Amino acid sequence: MKFYSTNQKAPRATLKEAVLNGLPADNGLYMPEKITPLSDEFLHNFPFYTFKKIAFKVARTLLQNSIDHQLLKQVTDEAINFPAPVKHLGDNFYSLELFHGPSLAFKDYGARFMARLMSHFVKDEERDLHILVATSGDTGGAVAMGFYKVPGIKVTILYPKGKVSHLQELQLTTLGENITALEVEGVFDDCQALVKQAFLDTKLREQLLISSANSINISRLIPQIFYYFEAIKQVADLKKPVVMSVPSGNFGNLTAGIIAQKMGLPIHRFIAAVNDNDGFYRYLQQGSFTPKPSVQTLSTAMDVGNPSNLVRINEIFNFDVQSIKNHITSFTYNNADTKKALQEIYEKFNYVADPHGAVGYLGLKAFLKQHPSAVGIFQETAHPSKFIDIVEPAIQQKVAIPKNLKRLMGKEKRAIPMSIEYADFKKYLEQLI
Ligand SMILES: *Cc1c(COP(=O)(O)O)cnc(C)c1O
Repeated sequence: MKFYSTNQKAPRATLKEAVLNGLPADNGLYMPEKITPLSDEFLHNFPFYTFKKIAFKVARTLLQNSIDHQLLKQVTDEAINFPAPVKHLGDNFYSLELFHGPSLAFKDYGARFMARLMSHFVKDEERDLHILVATSGDTGGAVAMGFYKVPGIKVTILYPKGKVSHLQELQLTTLGENITALEVEGVFDDCQALVKQAFLDTKLREQLLISSANSINISRLIPQIFYYFEAIKQVADLKKPVVMSVPSGNFGNLTAGIIAQKMGLPIHRFIAAVNDNDGFYRYLQQGSFTPKPSVQTLSTAMDVGNPSNLVRINEIFNFDVQSIKNHITSFTYNNADTKKALQEIYEKFNYVADPHGAVGYLGLKAFLKQHPSAVGIFQETAHPSKFIDIVEPAIQQKVAIPKNLKRLMGKEKRAIPMSIEYADFKKYLEQLI
């Protein structure tokens, strides 16, 4: 099984090429040639499997013969080493907690899987592999921890100055070793544009081995498919249609859910819950997509004006907006709604959500109002303590900070200031050669 570019102008890639290139040369995104459905046997029995077993079997079916199965088993076992519990909040509301990994966000699944695949693929390389990653907050921390001290790999993280939370910034800027943080005078889209430009710089790429770790990398997306199965497994005995609300920004997470559904997972409907960066919402309303510059909101990890993975969703549904609407409903919420939702979830269910999960909750609530017999799951994509400055005033309660975040407090921040001009970024990259 190979990977094709959504722009159809680059050669098909092996898994190794797709993972190490990150982006195809024609500026498209890699997609698997074929999304193979799971066996009836698997779809019948997965509610009795462990998360690790689910991960391996789903990955093996999707990746077919593009990777040695022994190696794949090792990668999934090591990457999927923390749970994704579904908590019943009350009524038909459930939360899927994806924040039990090292950086306390769902992006740990993707980053850990990718780091292990990449370090296998570069074993025989003489040069270092440089990972360039733009982050709106959580990607950076997950990637930094996923690749920390991995031999032969160096990581450069670009983050928008002043637009990530204090604790997120500490995760990006205090590790040192093979991790370098660039503090960019701009927004997330500027960071992403710089990374994209580096990938299109063929001259640079002759001299520097680079790869991306954004959700555009197919190896980030694959492990996100697994936890949709893990979630459905935990509500399977309710025997009701399940609605999954995904707080979305760059739409990698939702794309993974759609792939899970295509592989046979019974999900009745997806909710794409977005903040004021509502391009996708408007796309479903109007049938055409207009990118807008991103605006800053309380759910910063979803502040994406031009979601990269939209092209993958379009590809899966043959660019047919009606067909997308048959599977995905979108809702948009502003900062005031988000704060109220944090408070409501706390008062109604005695549950502390984070601002991203709160947007997901609102989308779910709106949908369940029309479909009261469904089981509703919203994803808690990050631990609330990562956004403590927003959550505490909203719920008027202290939020406990987990040990591994506490450890970072008091450590020294190290970041290189960077403008949004590619010439400046190029200078930085050239000294890595
Ligand atoms: C990245 C992130 C999102 C958005 O996920 P996408 O795959 O980019 O749509 C939502 N919530 C949190 C906490 C995140 O870190």
